[in-house]
Amino acid sequence: MNYQTLRRLGLAAIAAASTFAHAQDYPNKAITVVVPFAAGGPTDTVARLVAQSMTTNLKQQVIVENVGGAGGTLGAGRVARAAGDGYTLLLHHIGHSTAPSLYRKLAFDPIGDFEPIGLVADVPMTLIAKQALPPKDMKELLPYLKANKEKVLYAHAGVGSASHLCGLLFMSTIQVDMTTVPFGGTGPAMTSMLGGEVDLMCDQTTNTTGQIKGGKVKAYAVTTKTPVPSLKELPTMADSGLPGFEVAVWHGLYAPKGTPKPVLDKLTAALQTALKDPNVIARLAELGTEPVAQNRATPDALRTHLKTEIDKWSPVIKKAGVYAD
Ligand code: ASP
Repeated sequence: MNYQTLRRLGLAAIAAASTFAHAQDYPNKAITVVVPFAAGGPTDTVARLVAQSMTTNLKQQVIVENVGGAGGTLGAGRVARAAGDGYTLLLHHIGHSTAPSLYRKLAFDPIGDFEPIGLVADVPMTLIAKQALPPKDMKELLPYLKANKEKVLYAHAGVGSASHLCGLLFMSTIQVDMTTVPFGGTGPAMTSMLGGEVDLMCDQTTNTTGQIKGGKVKAYAVTTKTPVPSLKELPTMADSGLPGFEVAVWHGLYAPKGTPKPVLDKLTAALQTALKDPNVIARLAELGTEPVAQNRATPDALRTHLKTEIDKWSPVIKKAGVYAD
């Protein structure tokens, strides 16, 4: 063995030893979970619940940082460029799978630049409107939108967000083009709707349940195939004359590419413990959803789901002909 080979082997051994030491010691400082939408919205709500429980499990602060904008791609891009050391994570939703088809110039690869940690929750969406919008149910809503398409404002969380996607599907299904108004997340979009500035929006039950039950917004339908038990008075879109209409939001937790496997293992274990936390389960139930089963809160399950969703949405988006730069 020559000097060069020995040196290379020595360096590799040092790198392996330091990765091991890092993983042993992990976490020894606060962890940041980037939410790629504004504070006060549904992704933020799920992230804060999970982060609080992970803080207990990991014995280190797990802090949520909101990096909203461009339908979630700004925050995801930030995490793609972060060090793979387990101290910067991303809690995203379905938008991570639609961004590659929607954005012509995406600065990151949702599969290649991330290490999946696990799925978090599947969350239904609801089609809601400001209280003053005249139609009282889906039967009245469809003709109303056709007759008033020039003045109806549809709010969403940016190109590629779930609310945008749901709106696109809705508009193409009923063949009505509405004016869309983007926000940094559906938290601020909801504030605008409560103020009567925007008319219509699709949003996760994690953001809408309280407002629906409190009579602050009108609710027309849920976007899942089956009704939502906590909002059982609402029909599905499919049962309201739009057969086949379905949008189910899912959340996943990711680390940047290159995060060492032992660190990922600790994070998956902490996520799984958080998803068994009775407090997390109870709070999500109030908000119309539940954590995923433990066997889906794994890197393999998230990796497979992400790929399946990319393949599912890419032809839909291509057919709709929508792009962002
Ligand atoms: N619900 C948002 C969306 O439409 C995102 C958010 O604010 O959590 O994608």
